[in-house]
Amino acid sequence: MGEGNTGLEQRDLAVLWHPCTQMKDHERLPVIPIRRGRGVWLEDFDGRRYLDAISSWWVNLFGHSHPRINAAVKAQVEELEQVLLAGFTHEAAVSLAERLVAISPAGLRKCFFADNGSCAVEVALKMSFHYWRNRGELRKTRFICLENAYHGETLGALSVSQIPLYRDTYAPLLRDAIVAPSPDCYRRAPGETWAECSRRGFEAMADLLERHADEVCAVIVEPLVQCAGQMRMYDPVYLSLVRAACSQHRVHLIADEIAVGFGRTGTLFACEQAAIAPDFLCLSKGLTGGYLPLGAVLTTDEIYRAFYADYDTRTAFLHSHSYTGNPLACRAALATLSLFEEQPVLAGNRQLAQAMAAATAHFTDHPHVAEVRQTGMILAVEMVQDKATKTPYPWQERRGLRIYRQALARGVLLRPLGNVVYFMPPYVITEDEIRHLAEVAWEGINLATSD
Ligand code: PMP
Repeated sequence: MGEGNTGLEQRDLAVLWHPCTQMKDHERLPVIPIRRGRGVWLEDFDGRRYLDAISSWWVNLFGHSHPRINAAVKAQVEELEQVLLAGFTHEAAVSLAERLVAISPAGLRKCFFADNGSCAVEVALKMSFHYWRNRGELRKTRFICLENAYHGETLGALSVSQIPLYRDTYAPLLRDAIVAPSPDCYRRAPGETWAECSRRGFEAMADLLERHADEVCAVIVEPLVQCAGQMRMYDPVYLSLVRAACSQHRVHLIADEIAVGFGRTGTLFACEQAAIAPDFLCLSKGLTGGYLPLGAVLTTDEIYRAFYADYDTRTAFLHSHSYTGNPLACRAALATLSLFEEQPVLAGNRQLAQAMAAATAHFTDHPHVAEVRQTGMILAVEMVQDKATKTPYPWQERRGLRIYRQALARGVLLRPLGNVVYFMPPYVITEDEIRHLAEVAWEGINLATSD
């Protein structure tokens, strides 16, 4: 303490290798040491504040250092900090599993804990494959994913991710997935509605399922918003169509709601907007209110029963992570779910979502903005070089980075994905703060597109 930002920054760069970062960038770009967080605000060691418009990588729901979640974690740490979840159990894990089963789409009745998002995806992929294997369907070894999908960084999750920036380098290590076109509505035809565009997007998926069902374990999708894929959005009708086709072809549906779950899209889970239930629901990020790493995979009794047999049948799911169902993380999650129960969170979010739309309504007139799109509490602005043709700026120009720097100077944490600026704030943001956010983003866009 007492050394201010600079002291910590130097110590950091001497030893720390940061995630998703070209470390050489930090020759010009400061690392920002954060001393404390309160609500939507992060504060550094020099007393500068930053509005966390991206919920610290989409994890935070009710603000930093929330008194209720703090209290729940503090009480738990006095009792039990961690215990293995094989052969043992604890109240927090049981209660959390009960509550997740109760609030998840119908039919999801069993909860398997992991300890982060990528690992939740690994669990779902392995469970799906293993289910078919236990049923004697040995030909089913492949997965269908969407173009522009993102499901995490571990090799299994990366195999079903299709963002070249994260994937291409590791391609020789990955298994080939079957890739269906994204139902993304950004490039919809003139006059076409989102629903029509997403329906059209489904045709290729229908065809792939038709041709490959006998070798496919599951289709994996990010319901409604491909978040890491530059917040590309699609219509719920796509989910209904995929659900029906998966059932028809005896293929599982994995819904990765790691980013979109817990109210981000306007409903508690995005799948609700299509009134569907997947065979696997992957959760993480907001699950603990953004406090602690935890992943959960919800699945059906039918899938669970395919693993349930005498030990010597070797059908058990022998997958584990050391911190699976950590008690502190489960308590943070339980406190988070209580906040959803006790407060009209989704109604409040509708209000905030409207405020976000209003504050950015004029952005569509900007000569370098091709689209402002929104699904609930996620709003994205697509910056382009040429508005008429939707030609993107070359990625090498790193225009989003200019916005990042400008916003930081103005006390706002925005972290554009390439040329896409987005807001995905904690649900405790105020309408005034939303207007401030929009002003700063507008300035940033002007600056980034001025040459
Ligand atoms: N799936 C989706 C949809 C995600 O957005 C992410 C993280 N951005 C992950 C999986 C991976 O989660 P984690 O970073 O906790 O491994």
